[in-house]
Amino acid sequence: MDRIGIMGGTFNPIHIGHLMMAEAAKEALSLDEVWFVPTGFSYMKGSRQASENMPLPEERLEMTRLAVRDNDRFRCADLEVRRQGATYTYETLEELRETYPEKTFFFLFGADCLYTIENWREPARIFDACELVAAVRQGASTDAMQEKIAQLKERFGARITLLPFRNLEISSTEIRSCVREGRSIRYMTPQPVISYIEEKGFYRKGKPLE
Ligand code: ATP
Ligand code: MG
Repeated sequence: MDRIGIMGGTFNPIHIGHLMMAEAAKEALSLDEVWFVPTGFSYMKGSRQASENMPLPEERLEMTRLAVRDNDRFRCADLEVRRQGATYTYETLEELRETYPEKTFFFLFGADCLYTIENWREPARIFDACELVAAVRQGASTDAMQEKIAQLKERFGARITLLPFRNLEISSTEIRSCVREGRSIRYMTPQPVISYIEEKGFYRKGKPLE
């Protein structure tokens, strides 16, 4: 179990886009496992309105667990949720590397982030800690991305691979809107996640949860 993909995200909630991307990366890169790492309180996304009945970090973690529990190659890691205050990707990757020095980590992300990753906290430490895998829309022109990758390699010694991935038009935002508007989210995320969302009343309008 040596090659590990790291799938970070808010996972509010997790959906088939995340799961299929992880599966595609696992196959393409012969990963042994993919670990999903839900963020704690995100410094980029700020805090959410209580009136929208947003899940707590532990509850996003629980949804992520429910989504991956039937796949013994997918796991869920609570290190960001456990950490107090803002969580930064470089800290997570460094902590993983220290804890599991025998493993090789691949940080998986959407190719749109290629253009913003330099502005993340401590980009050089992110690139130092692991290889990166950017999922890119299959068929899209990758010239500009290849150029960006070369530039990041030059500047930070970044090791970045592009992973062609289908265009799956789904987002957590869409799921939250559907729930708020009373529309079905069936098949957008595994059924245990849907049951949990319903049971807890996440994303519904109106009276905040207790
Ligand atoms: P939100 O709508 O709240 O922004 P999201 O659906 O974009 O949520 P995140 O938790 O922000 O989900 O994303 C985590 C990771 O998953 C990011 O690297 C992102 O690029 C990737 N990702 C999100 N949606 C998809 C999708 N439909 N297909 C492939 N990758 C995706
Ligand atoms: Mg997003």
